[in-house]
Amino acid sequence: MISLAGKAALITGGSRGIGAAAVHMFAQAGADVVFNYFRSKDAAAQVEQEARKHGTRVESLKADLGKMKDAKRLVDFTAERLGKIDILVANAGIWNVEDRPIESLSEKEWDDMVRVNLKSVYAVTHFAAARMIAQKSGKIIAISSTAGQRGEAFHTHYGATKGAIISFVKGLAAELAPHGILVNCVAPGWVDTDMSKPVLATKAGRKSVFATIPLGRVATAEEVAGPILFLASDLATFITGEALNVNGGSVLCG
Ligand code: NAP
Repeated sequence: MISLAGKAALITGGSRGIGAAAVHMFAQAGADVVFNYFRSKDAAAQVEQEARKHGTRVESLKADLGKMKDAKRLVDFTAERLGKIDILVANAGIWNVEDRPIESLSEKEWDDMVRVNLKSVYAVTHFAAARMIAQKSGKIIAISSTAGQRGEAFHTHYGATKGAIISFVKGLAAELAPHGILVNCVAPGWVDTDMSKPVLATKAGRKSVFATIPLGRVATAEEVAGPILFLASDLATFITGEALNVNGGSVLCG
């Protein structure tokens, strides 16, 4: 039942992980897709090649989305190649595996996290929303985290950016509703991607993570991309300002 035929989607951070799974799934559902990569050029080329097999237009562009000029370039490129932007998935982000106690968390680490995880969401939304307002329709889906809902000790800068995404989405949902634009976020718990690999690679790491998740395992990237696709689809036309939990029960259950 889910079809994105005729839709144009911009997915940030599509070279790996959740973003790459979303590129594949959106293309499979019939959407034309532009995504960005930053450092992973080869991985991006592979995602592009694979996703094109579904028969839709798929293109990638290098962009550091913590920079306004790169965000503008990406949004302009998408509109130029696809003719419009119906869906924005603001997914690109970073996490640092090492603990960062507050007293040794440096200003640079704080600024880098805020720039890549939060400013990037503002930046792409800023340019894409202007186009969506003009066309009087659109869907914006950002990627938050359980860390934004319950915090994350020793990763407070990461949790702060992800919490801010939830309040950004709630404010923007009300602001853009009169323009026919729906704004939501997906809040994943642990997902099996490069980001979590260093923790999940060890038996002790897996054991401690699985113990916090009622379903007893982490999500696949596809299990997060599916709910993103749902929010982007015509099955979700009355949901806005929402944070959709995709966490195996780990926030609600103690
Ligand atoms: P990932 O596998 O590490 O992929 C991150 C993506 O973001 C890559 O495509 C990367 O591009 C891109 N990116 C990084 N820095 C960028 C920058 N400055 N400008 C533009 N793009 C940049 O991560 P993931 O696990 O798929 O995470 C995707 C999103 O889900 C993130 O926002 C993350 O915080 C969130 N999340 C993840 C988990 C988890 O357990 N994995 C849990 C909750 C939330 P390049 O590789 O090309 O540089």
